[in-house]
Amino acid sequence: MNKVLVVTGGSRGIGRAVSLLAGKRGWIVCLSYVANREAADSVVREIEAGGGKALAVKSDVAVEAEVAALFAAADRLGPLGGLVNNAGVVDVAARVDEMKAARLTRMMTTNIVGSFLCAGQAVRRMSTRHGGQGGAIVNLSSVAARLGAPNQYVDYAASKGAIDSFTTGLALEVAAEGIRVNAVAPGLIETEIHASGGQPDRLARLGPSVPMKRVGTAEEVAAPILWLLSDEASYTTGTIVTVSGGR
Ligand code: NAP
Repeated sequence: MNKVLVVTGGSRGIGRAVSLLAGKRGWIVCLSYVANREAADSVVREIEAGGGKALAVKSDVAVEAEVAALFAAADRLGPLGGLVNNAGVVDVAARVDEMKAARLTRMMTTNIVGSFLCAGQAVRRMSTRHGGQGGAIVNLSSVAARLGAPNQYVDYAASKGAIDSFTTGLALEVAAEGIRVNAVAPGLIETEIHASGGQPDRLARLGPSVPMKRVGTAEEVAAPILWLLSDEASYTTGTIVTVSGGR
């Protein structure tokens, strides 16, 4: 395969696992990061050590010009075949009656607007309507969209609810243009996102409540994402795959 896969937030967590598995599966990986250059470079090195090809690009998904620059960099690697809209943020636990506009704007801009901007760039390249050869997009939702995350981050849950609607709508919009659009909704996954929300003990606390009695790994989320990107999922579009141990 000589197709390029853009993975936003590929430096750590689920995006890192997706990038590494994609590199092994023959994708040319263009991964983005926003702050952690060292982590991003180490993902590139690991892909290259396995015989793959990868590039790390500093690009904030919330900034339109930086998203355009990310896809321009991807263009230099080869034809685009896929996008994983993975970059996302949480915030510290709060009730809705405590949330200020600055917090809400950051959350919605990063998690929702960023995914729209990246998908727009990808569709312009992959859609047969624009002379492209088709491709696949996978969005990162969350079981929080269904659970609502009360007393933690209802704003985050709502941003992922928007990702579900976005997945349905975009899938239908481009279904006849060679592009499949799906989402993966993880449950409790072992990454640094929980500490970034000020709850480093969140997994230990909530893990026992999962029907499978454990949290998941980033690799367990990456595998279904790579399946959705592959030709094995050639008749699957507009679907949200839950990866949550039954939660
Ligand atoms: P993580 O470990 O916190 O990693 C976040 C990644 O996103 C990092 O690579 C970070 O880059 C990047 N990023 C953050 N803000 C960005 C921005 N504005 N522009 C570009 N990149 C940005 O997160 P994760 O747990 O792997 O989560 C990945 C996705 O899965 C998110 O959409 C999250 O909502 C979703 N999810 C996670 C879980 C879970 O339990 N972990 C559950 C459900 C859904 P730097 O390294 O440069 O900071």
